[in-house]
Amino acid sequence: RPRVLSGIQPTAGSFHLGNYLGAVRQWVALQESHDAFYMVVDLHAITLPQDPGALRANTRLAAAQLLAAGLDPARCTLFVQSHVPEHAQLAWVMNCLTGFGEASRMTQFKDKSAKQGADRASVGLFTYPILQVADILLYQANEVPVGEDQRQHIELTRDLAERFNGRFGQTFTVPKPYILKETAKIFDLQDPTIKMSKSASTPKGLVNLLDDPKATAKKIKSAVTDTDTVIRFDPVEKPGVSNLLGIYSTLTGTGIAELEEKYAGKGYGALKTDLAEVVVDFVTPFRERTQQYLDDPETLDSILAEGAEKARVVAAETLAQTYAKVGFLPAK
Ligand code: ATP
Ligand code: MG
Repeated sequence: RPRVLSGIQPTAGSFHLGNYLGAVRQWVALQESHDAFYMVVDLHAITLPQDPGALRANTRLAAAQLLAAGLDPARCTLFVQSHVPEHAQLAWVMNCLTGFGEASRMTQFKDKSAKQGADRASVGLFTYPILQVADILLYQANEVPVGEDQRQHIELTRDLAERFNGRFGQTFTVPKPYILKETAKIFDLQDPTIKMSKSASTPKGLVNLLDDPKATAKKIKSAVTDTDTVIRFDPVEKPGVSNLLGIYSTLTGTGIAELEEKYAGKGYGALKTDLAEVVVDFVTPFRERTQQYLDDPETLDSILAEGAEKARVVAAETLAQTYAKVGFLPAK
């Protein structure tokens, strides 16, 4: 079975609709066909300041949401990044293989450091794509299911894998991004030209899966569309309507053309009311299942402990090979 690896940050508590449709939904599907490794990336989370208690709670919350979304510990390996020390260890080797200019070209650093100012942002935030490289290469992943915003980091991963293999001999699988066109980028409900994001979106533009479903329905109904009334999928001319159609289509499995036909001549109100119901029907059981996992932290923690144990077997093997290739003297 080909292997997949992906991760999600335990920041901001709730996952949003972009995380789910862009990434987690594919994770659930891929556990049926792939040898799948999924993790809550707490090492990545501390690239921005975190409250320790909140980080701990959000890590459990992220794992609970992944299970609620349909990850099955019998079908995939689910773990917390910091439970597998090899991530940080391989990241150091990858840091030493990356050019400073090359790292400077990663656009997420510019976006994410803009708030604090690049001078005050942590060096961890700067090198975070390189930790991501290590995350992926440790598992010899063939594919990495992510949203479009991660494409540049997968490119860097490919470059570094090839560079290492070229310099030290075949060691790493060169991975490919797994990005579905329809859900590659879910847009902000209030500004459909930017991606829905936990750090950049305003509360009204962001659908958090764990929010009160009534509030979520309201957000969908007040999503920005345009002054025209025609329901047509056209991301350039009609980004707001197209975003709603995309979300609707993915959550219900109805084709876009079929939706266009269904709403022909009906106006945006009807589309938004129906979509609000579709989203509420999705988030309501999701919230309940998440709560069930949170109510039983012992079971949750042992799922994560078992996942870390399985992950470490693979990670340790890759790290040992890497250390040997680099020329580190083996410890006797
Ligand atoms: P931040 O804005 O702080 O980076 P985020 O909302 O992007 O947070 P992450 O934890 O960085 O959340 O991303 C988790 C996964 O969700 C990644 O694979 C990412 O590509 C995907 N993702 C995030 N936002 C979207 C979106 N709007 N559309 C599609 N996929 C998305
Ligand atoms: Mg992101």
